Amino acid sequence: HNHYDILIIGAGPIGMACAIEAQRANLSYIIIEKGALVNSLFNYPVFMTFFSTSQRLEIGGVPFVTISPKPNRNEAVEYYRRVAEKFNLHINLFERVQQVTKNGDSFHVNTAKADYTAKNVIVATGFYDVPLLMNVKGEELPKVTHYYKDPHLYAFQNVLVVGANNSGVDAALETYRKGAKVTMVVRSAELGKNVKYWVRPDIENRIKEGEITAYFNAEVLEIRTDEVDIKTQEGIKTIPNDFVIAMTGYQPDFNMLRKFGIELPDSLCPVYNENTMETNVKGLYLAGVVCGGMDTHKLFIENSRVHAELIVKSIVNPVEI
Ligand code: FAD
Repeated sequence: HNHYDILIIGAGPIGMACAIEAQRANLSYIIIEKGALVNSLFNYPVFMTFFSTSQRLEIGGVPFVTISPKPNRNEAVEYYRRVAEKFNLHINLFERVQQVTKNGDSFHVNTAKADYTAKNVIVATGFYDVPLLMNVKGEELPKVTHYYKDPHLYAFQNVLVVGANNSGVDAALETYRKGAKVTMVVRSAELGKNVKYWVRPDIENRIKEGEITAYFNAEVLEIRTDEVDIKTQEGIKTIPNDFVIAMTGYQPDFNMLRKFGIELPDSLCPVYNENTMETNVKGLYLAGVVCGGMDTHKLFIENSRVHAELIVKSIVNPVEI
């Protein structure tokens, strides 16, 4: 009874899109998710606004209706939950997949709770579970986070935000507006080029007016309980610090992909056939933002939801190449 045509790892938007396609093709499937439904979105900052319009976040052809063009995190979580309900998707939540092994023509999948067999496996595990570390002394202190959630925590505190892409800029502005004293440390010479166009003037003006201090071409050297050392262009600065919000990016879980037998060249961009999304292991597919390797800005919901159709088409109609 634990045998499926397709076993999908990850109930993110793309894992869900794969399930909807499998259902439409009358294939048996199960999604196994280690956390809550759309766990990555659940862990986004609570006041986050997507850079995508709601239409571009739609899956399964279900309209995502919002009053403003760009939805926020709460609306998106609500949308995907309603989609899961509408299609009555088969999802096992809070169950981590540990190993996938090819066994003749099928796969054996071992999770923290059970064992499954499946003819095909789709890995749709995203990139939000492994933060890119700064590798500095003190990074392990409890006041350092790679997952910024809610600005209220930082009210009236000395906050260091590391990084100036969307996550860093949002965290700096939100905590500044809750009364935090915010310093930004930015490795490059300017703000990230993908910063949301409607947010950019706000952060530029806060920096220009000295309300947020920003050090460019700078890096964190060491974090201690009540201060941090920053290497700036004017030398090393030590400033008082209560919290560090390290928005330094994330990467797919490469060790997990390797363990499943997926080839990873030096570029860390996993090997797969772009027409079918099949990896070097026959019947083992990749879907969603996990496919981008280190280049986590290349794929997002809008341009990776098509993976679901490609994969199910290739499973229903295998073409030998
Ligand atoms: P995810 O949504 O990350 O889903 C992967 C799922 O796999 C997770 O639920 C995870 O818990 C699960 N999983 C991982 N390992 C295992 C395991 N071993 N066993 C079981 N389950 C596992 N994209 C956009 O298109 N527009 C945006 O505006 C946008 N804004 C973003 C803002 C932030 C702050 C971040 C971090 C990302 C943003 N993205 C945005 C990118 C976005 O995260 C992805 O587009 C989207 O979540 C990708 O969906 P996915 O299904 O590929 O991966």
